[in-house]
Amino acid sequence: MAATDLEQIVSLCKRRGFVYQSAEIYGGFRSTYDYGPLGSLLLRNVKEAWIRSMVQQRDDVVLIDAAILSPPQVWQASGHLANFSDPLVDCTNCKNRFRLDKLDDPDTCPSCGEKNSFTEAREFNLMFKTQAGPVEGTGADAYLRPETAQGMFTNFAQVLQTSRKKPPFGIAQVGKSFRNEITPQNWIFRTREFEQMEMEFFVPPEDSDKWYEYWCNERLNWYIEHGIPAEMVMLRPHDDDELSHYSTGTSDVEFEFPWGFDELEGIAKRTDFDLKAHAAVSGERLDYFDPQTNERYVPYVIEPAAGATRTMAAFLLAAYDEDEINGETRTVLRLHPRLSPYKVAVLPLSKKDTLTPLAHEVRKLLADRYMVDYDETQNIGKRYRRQDEIGTPLAVTVDFDSLDDNAVTIRDRDTTEQVRVPIDELLTTVSERLGF
Ligand code: ATP
Repeated sequence: MAATDLEQIVSLCKRRGFVYQSAEIYGGFRSTYDYGPLGSLLLRNVKEAWIRSMVQQRDDVVLIDAAILSPPQVWQASGHLANFSDPLVDCTNCKNRFRLDKLDDPDTCPSCGEKNSFTEAREFNLMFKTQAGPVEGTGADAYLRPETAQGMFTNFAQVLQTSRKKPPFGIAQVGKSFRNEITPQNWIFRTREFEQMEMEFFVPPEDSDKWYEYWCNERLNWYIEHGIPAEMVMLRPHDDDELSHYSTGTSDVEFEFPWGFDELEGIAKRTDFDLKAHAAVSGERLDYFDPQTNERYVPYVIEPAAGATRTMAAFLLAAYDEDEINGETRTVLRLHPRLSPYKVAVLPLSKKDTLTPLAHEVRKLLADRYMVDYDETQNIGKRYRRQDEIGTPLAVTVDFDSLDDNAVTIRDRDTTEQVRVPIDELLTTVSERLGF
């Protein structure tokens, strides 16, 4: 089972400290969210799982972390200044503003229902523009990046030289991007500030189609390997009229959100568009000399571009479940252990001084390797439920017998089964159960 209603996840996330409306004490700032104690861990784990698969487990991809503030030339070369816009219409009746390309019915306002009430479409550039410099009005124009990808192109020559890679190889980056979305919506699905996980894979031009197929499959499987049921994700090739200005072929990984299948990630064939454009505007040489063939060429690029915050929403929705334990309904997040905010909860059966020192010893033992929650409030049943609801795969209970037998009880989130384990075997057992 998965969440059928976005509200189930939104309210769980607020109640348990995953995601809050930003600046809520001031009435909230529309379309911005803060990630609380659990959400920040979950988001970090999503990004780490991506880096693990895309960089750590391969020998052909390196990671960078480029600046968010960037000069206009970058966006002139990339085409974003000219093309990165959405067609915007206003309803003359209710004054709401919409993206023309996202309207189900381009004649009827989805907000007030009025027919033929829209203004002519205007192109609206989505980039946030600001000034860099101390004196208002005299600073240099700067933009908050609307995607992380350009950092990989502008650093291409330096990375090539310093990493000693050669095509096929990739440059990956995870970080914040900003788009002045006309209609931010669906909680953290579409926001003006969000995080992306993108990789530019540089290949000899003749191998572009092969690598495109490869990355489409790799990326689809990544979601399934991290716990999304196979029937809830699919690859959808773009129609020609949907393609971005740089793309000759794109497929989206789509997830079945409560409102229908929608995009998690785009895998695009970007050809040599970006490197050539930056070479032309900067005057720098952005190509590769192959010493084996003595040929110089501009690599083609395959780009898997995913949203970290949007993906986090998908993982939460897919993990949501309700079942019945001893006649009571429980809510459980069946998150993949790599994604769970906490891997283990340490729960002393009582707050008494006699148990606390041993419980803390157990916590320290585990916390050296894993993110651990320690909770001694309320009865043990309630504490198990709380851990189930935040997706903690294992709970370790320290009880009065532990003082004599030096053993603890491990409880499994999914099956609720409990086993007794000697404390000196605890780390090995936990590691076997989690799979890492
Ligand atoms: P959309 O059509 O939904 O506006 P896009 O096709 O413009 O998205 P890309 O430019 O391909 O998106 O960005 C790559 C990924 O970054 C998207 O698949 C999505 O996961 C994420 N992303 C893009 N815009 C946003 C946003 N406003 N909020 C959250 N995530 C976003």
